[in-house]
Amino acid sequence: MKADILIKNGLVVTFEKDAMTGEIIEDGAVAVIGNEIAAIGNTAQIEAEYGEADRVIDASGKIVMPGFIITHTHMAYLLGHNQPVDFTQLKSFWDMLQKMGWEWLEDLQTEEGIYAATRYAAMKMIKNGTTTVCDLIEGPNALPGALAAGGRAIEEVGIRAQVGFEVTERIPGVSIREKLDPGMAEKGFKENLDFLARYPAGQDNRIQGRLGVHTAYTNSPETLKKAREIADRYGCGIQIHVAEIPRAFLVEKFGRSAPQVLEDAGLLGPDVVAAHCIDLSAEDIEILQRNRVNVSHTPMTNSLGGNGVAPVPEMLEQGINMTIGHDCFFTLDTSEYIRYAYLIHKAHNANPMLIPPFQVLDFVLGNAARAMGWGDRIGSLAVGKKADILIVQPDSPSPVTPSSVISYFTMTFLGRDVESVIIDGQLVLDEGKMTTVNEEEVAAACLEEARILWRKNGIEV
Ligand SMILES: [Zn+2]
Repeated sequence: MKADILIKNGLVVTFEKDAMTGEIIEDGAVAVIGNEIAAIGNTAQIEAEYGEADRVIDASGKIVMPGFIITHTHMAYLLGHNQPVDFTQLKSFWDMLQKMGWEWLEDLQTEEGIYAATRYAAMKMIKNGTTTVCDLIEGPNALPGALAAGGRAIEEVGIRAQVGFEVTERIPGVSIREKLDPGMAEKGFKENLDFLARYPAGQDNRIQGRLGVHTAYTNSPETLKKAREIADRYGCGIQIHVAEIPRAFLVEKFGRSAPQVLEDAGLLGPDVVAAHCIDLSAEDIEILQRNRVNVSHTPMTNSLGGNGVAPVPEMLEQGINMTIGHDCFFTLDTSEYIRYAYLIHKAHNANPMLIPPFQVLDFVLGNAARAMGWGDRIGSLAVGKKADILIVQPDSPSPVTPSSVISYFTMTFLGRDVESVIIDGQLVLDEGKMTTVNEEEVAAACLEEARILWRKNGIEV
């Protein structure tokens, strides 16, 4: 039989069903036909079966593995990276949210900016080994059309994604502690519904809609109930920020915590990806557990905001499905987020036994695939799954072998070790070079849109 792509002579790490039990094949091969994995085995056996291929990749000395999955991103946020704003105005997490997050960035977003930043972010993530993201687009003044712009960028670059627009009752320019407006949420719902009409959920598409909701504290119970109705009607799931701010704020305002508010509104369920989940009581964790909510752990942005450390060991103990998000802050290099999540709980709890290497890899592979409802499709190398494959050239001072390869990812791995990337059967990164977009043009366009946004804040560059 003829394959479209034949990868041979590699150290194939399947991660099927997970990092602990997945098969590791020395001198392994993977055959791809169309957008699926057709065969996995040792090179001699696969070559005998698939002697011919349009493209043969010799992976000698390299690792062949599934692509990483990041479950909470804001690709359009890139325009605000390093913005030299007046930091004396930032005295608390609230200031960071109200000014840096909203006034100086989100509220200034345009369709063109979202398109340019999303293209750049998707490209960088692919180059660093991320093949799937769950992206939440924000920008109340870029409506309608914000999601269409993001979708167009994702189509072009070739990453796999679920995308939604953030439904919020927040009014641009008005403090959320003064006033909310359900009319704003209506605009957000419409944006999501228009996107779902174009990119429906529950089908075979590389890009699908996933309803976005901001938080429990920027939406009324009615809006939260409506979000659940839409998620049920369209089978699209929900992405939402949960407990990223001090629990006391919600308890003071509603008499209940975020998980309590969301459970009462009926929003929680196994189709929910909840980002952050930091300040949780034992009861809050129990609520997430009994509703089988998936958690997107975002330790680097939580550290930046001074929000504390999420109780990940406690959530794992309760059997909560744990994944990793990064909000698109910092480098977009997958290795950075894997390593930070791997280390922080050991330090925070003074316990080196917490989160071993195989466990943190599951966060960005099988767990993440299941969180997105795509457990049967991505997250591991298995026959019949989508061909989302990395070829990694390890830059390691010590041998990378079947017995050392798992710890290589927490110890030494850097995104630049990723040499080639296949997504949905398409070779999108070929020996370090993007095949789908012109890298210089994508970078220049993003830079220009960042300049335009910064000028709106009086920053001339
Ligand atoms: Zn977020």
